[in-house]
Amino acid sequence: MREVETIVVGGGPAGSTCARRLVQHGRDVVVLDKAQFPRLKLCAGWITDKVLRDLDIAPGDYPHPMLRLDIRAHVPGLPFGLRWFPTPGANWSIRRIEFDAWLLARAGAEVVAHEVRRIRRDGDRFIVDDAFACRWLIGAGGTMCPVRRALFPEGRNKSRQIVTLEKEFPYPAREDVCRLTFFRRGLVGYAWVVPKGDGVVNIGIGGKAKYFRTSGTNIHDHFRAFLDDLVREGRLDAATVADLKETGHPYYLFSRDGAVRDGRCLLIGDSAGLATMDLGEGIGPAVESGLMAADEILGRGTYHKGEVTLFSLSGLTQRLMRRANRRHLPTPTAA
Ligand SMILES: Cc1cc2nc3c(=O)[nH]c(=O)nc-3n(C[C@H](O)[C@H](O)[C@H](O)COP(=O)(O)OP(=O)(O)OC[C@H]3O[C@@H](n4cnc5c(N)ncnc54)[C@H](O)[C@@H]3O)c2cc1C
Repeated sequence: MREVETIVVGGGPAGSTCARRLVQHGRDVVVLDKAQFPRLKLCAGWITDKVLRDLDIAPGDYPHPMLRLDIRAHVPGLPFGLRWFPTPGANWSIRRIEFDAWLLARAGAEVVAHEVRRIRRDGDRFIVDDAFACRWLIGAGGTMCPVRRALFPEGRNKSRQIVTLEKEFPYPAREDVCRLTFFRRGLVGYAWVVPKGDGVVNIGIGGKAKYFRTSGTNIHDHFRAFLDDLVREGRLDAATVADLKETGHPYYLFSRDGAVRDGRCLLIGDSAGLATMDLGEGIGPAVESGLMAADEILGRGTYHKGEVTLFSLSGLTQRLMRRANRRHLPTPTAA
């Protein structure tokens, strides 16, 4: 049995960030991932300035294309796109197949290709598949995280299940504008066109699973209708659309209130339910929670899921309301 101080299950942005910080402090850490990197990850690939800061990525560090996004949010009834987004600073697009592999390699941790199936406790240690033993166990396995399944019995919350379809492909003629269309044809969710560097584009659609169940509509029909509109608007050509085979999957957003710690086991990133429901921003919270978990192992802080920064429309509204309330509160007077 291999003895390690920390095992990180999952080498996505959450796991690689946590592992990197531990390695930087000379700690013993192994990352287990069932996939061989570079691996495909369904994702529009939008990141914020904050993600780059948290990851310590200076301009010129990243060896793959990264495109600064000009975002237009389209809302039914408005003939134009709003050039507004609730994130301070610039927004960028990356390709997850490149980004995640680069982050994991940069972490400098030992990575073992291994699909985690069984986790049990043995005194104050965690035993993974009777092959690895550790004092700290980090669940960073995303929406299907095996650590979460084994040690956090709270079931999936169906009302927070999202269904998505997307396709990322070379299309040099794509425009350099990121388009998000909310509530398209009644969809409870949104459709996106995200340009990437090197003439690649990512097109997708995602919505609440409950919407499809109750409206009787099919996500493939929504995706095809979206592509047809893009052809009509001159943003894609018909031949490209005819050849596209979209891929998709159900995606779970776990309850915000759910536990993320059990002794020295911590859940981070998507396995902690940190991606936001409306904008689907999950890379930023994955990175930030990875740093916080590593700091807890290093004895430099405590990981509180509620302190992770989330960019969402509802979060923005709450922040604005809090700020407005503070402004209207009477100033305390000295007794
Ligand atoms: C369609 C779609 C579009 C999105 N677009 C955006 C976007 O534009 N911007 C944004 O910020 N967020 C976006 N998100 C959310 C974002 O992708 C996630 O929040 C982010 O990937 C979370 O990172 P993570 O490290 O927690 O998990 P992941 O990136 O999912 O990594 C988990 C890792 O765990 C491994 N793993 C799983 N099970 C096991 C096992 N049993 N054994 C070993 N390894 C295992 C997997 O192979 C994987 O490598 C999108 C999500 C979807 C579905």
